[in-house]
Amino acid sequence: MPLKTSEEYLESIKRPVNLYMFGEKIKEFWNHPIIQPSINTVMKIYELAQKEEYKDLLTATSHLTGEIINRFTHIHQSVDDLIKKIKMQRLLGQQTACCFQRCVGFDAANALYSVTYEIDENIGTNYHERFKKYWIEVQNQDLMVDGAMTDTKGDRSKRPAQQPDPDAYLRIVDENDEGIIVRGAKVHQTGFLNSHKAIIMPTLTLRPGEEDYAISFGVDTNEKGITLVYGRQSCDTRKMEEGKLDIGNYKYGGQEIFVIFDNVFIPNENIFMKGEVKFSGDLVNRFAGFHRQSYGGCKVGVGDVLIGASALISEYNGTERASHIRDKLVEMVHLNETLYSCGIACSSLGFQREAGNYEMDMLLANVCKQNVTRFPYEIGRLAEDIAGGIICTLPSEADFKSEEIGPLISKYLSTCEGISPDDRYKLLRFIENLTMGVASVSYRTESMHGAGSPMTQRIMISRQANLEEKKKLIKKILDIE
Ligand code: SF4
Ligand code: FE
Repeated sequence: MPLKTSEEYLESIKRPVNLYMFGEKIKEFWNHPIIQPSINTVMKIYELAQKEEYKDLLTATSHLTGEIINRFTHIHQSVDDLIKKIKMQRLLGQQTACCFQRCVGFDAANALYSVTYEIDENIGTNYHERFKKYWIEVQNQDLMVDGAMTDTKGDRSKRPAQQPDPDAYLRIVDENDEGIIVRGAKVHQTGFLNSHKAIIMPTLTLRPGEEDYAISFGVDTNEKGITLVYGRQSCDTRKMEEGKLDIGNYKYGGQEIFVIFDNVFIPNENIFMKGEVKFSGDLVNRFAGFHRQSYGGCKVGVGDVLIGASALISEYNGTERASHIRDKLVEMVHLNETLYSCGIACSSLGFQREAGNYEMDMLLANVCKQNVTRFPYEIGRLAEDIAGGIICTLPSEADFKSEEIGPLISKYLSTCEGISPDDRYKLLRFIENLTMGVASVSYRTESMHGAGSPMTQRIMISRQANLEEKKKLIKKILDIE
């Protein structure tokens, strides 16, 4: 059965990569305190897939090989698969309280599966078979795959080919009989360093004349010519301090990478789109749609943990019976479950593509993500309200544990009888971390910009809105010709 254990996963990513952080080259990144929590997260989700109780959600049967595979490598074969994806993501958000990084390649693969089929049907290429072969390897080895879409984009008022620097969008710079050579950069790459492979896609719908930018391919994340720069995040150096409580979520975390492709060779067998501008928009929109669906699962799971933290801190503060606190918790649950409803709804209305795989409902997936750009902020605001101002005035762990000043801090941080100041300290730091520290990247900024900034969903909503049909409805009721 091709399911990696968490230890096998860890061993498999111990490879040489060209990685920089704080201006220095990082060797053995798996031992770096800033990076380790992001690896713990991925190890945790590999570990959970081994457990009998989660088998139904975290594994699936491959339609390509008949083997039991990790669901993150599955191509959806039914509406039920789409729904299980959301349930899995909520579960993993609940267990890690952060971005677990493995959904991007999963969503890219599901988009590419149908798009490659349709390119072949239309122009007689052989991308679909190539992609299936590539993906069977991923399934058989239970590999983690990133999906890379966002280019640096240079001057936003100009098209790719008109940029002062043509590398502002990743492009083909040369080609030969064996493959292509690409140059450019992909930014905001969630989990790229922790992934074995990545699927690269165009960042926008391309037009005739922009063929060099209409490319999609698979690549090993440590391929020659790839340079990685670790994205720094608010309060990240707390992970390098002694002690762990000031980190907040000290076990788990996400990871964002700046990825530079400097003349990277891609062999033909790993290329899944090359110059077919007509299909670039389908790939972009389907990938974005799948990832907007994802947010109706993962962010809800993290929201569950934050609501739990808020309820617990109200107990620790002795405010849990106050009616306004109870109402705020109800509001948080209402917002969080609305997001989940969107994730489940766009999955339930999924449909089958010609290639045979299933896809979520595009309109509802975009509505889902549009809500995700707002509700986690409100949930976070309510968490801060319930926790109190102390989440940003708390002394450091070093003071809290100091023999000299520590006892006095503990004395004055004590609240209700039976509540340990240690536990309250941990919880306050966790809420701080999720609403304004490192983890706020996963819960807030990623909710805003991940899978596309709010405006990109509004464009898709306007395209699917079908106002003509709605006008017909009112005309019919009022007998308007
Ligand atoms: Fe998965 Fe959510 Fe992270 Fe995207 S933001 S990779 S959907 S956990
Ligand atoms: Fe994301």
